[in-house]
Amino acid sequence: MRLILASNNPKKLRELQALLGPLGLNLINQGALGIPEAEEPHITFVENALAKARHAAQAGQGPAIADDSGLCVRALGGLPGVRSARYALDAGRHPEGVPREVADTANNALLIETMHGKNDRHAHFTCLLVAVRHAEDPEPLIAEGHWAGTLLEAQQGHEGFGYDPLLWLPDHGCSAAEMNAEQKNAISHRAIACRRMRELMALHWGLHA
Ligand code: IMP
Repeated sequence: MRLILASNNPKKLRELQALLGPLGLNLINQGALGIPEAEEPHITFVENALAKARHAAQAGQGPAIADDSGLCVRALGGLPGVRSARYALDAGRHPEGVPREVADTANNALLIETMHGKNDRHAHFTCLLVAVRHAEDPEPLIAEGHWAGTLLEAQQGHEGFGYDPLLWLPDHGCSAAEMNAEQKNAISHRAIACRRMRELMALHWGLHA
């Protein structure tokens, strides 16, 4: 069965295809079908992912899956949350349209500054996956994954992307940016959400590996 991925990120496609392929699903990026990116105007992960999945299902006339992810910091009431990628942009720290690495560096610098002197340093990455059978599906499948740790006071490690250099993982004795891609992809918030989605698809869509 064809499943439209509401993203144009080839890394996400590969990661999801590896986990959902055994269910007989063939993922295709929405860009390959000429579907434009949907807006992400909402303040929760689930609303954004649902909007993206419905948009892709509508435009592609078939089942679709979308994700939304970010970093949630307890001392900041869950922020930057859905604004994680644009945290420093929102604060006017850099202009729109800078390369991703520049935005990542500015985001990390702003988070270090904001967390300065705070005792509660708990934070987690969230990944929210939503799958729909069609645009009006009244029963979207919703799978969530969390990957928790504590925030460092300075960046550590050079692997990964985004906030990885700031998330210390006590169980592993390293930051998320000190893990190689294989290690991270096996245990991350995305991996947890993907495995849960696989279970939901087996249970509710009757798809089995
Ligand atoms: P997206 O949903 O992949 O676009 O991610 C949104 C933003 O959340 C990214 O730009 C990062 O700032 C942050 N983020 C999500 N997942 C991760 C991760 O695995 N490591 C580091 N940052 C992440």
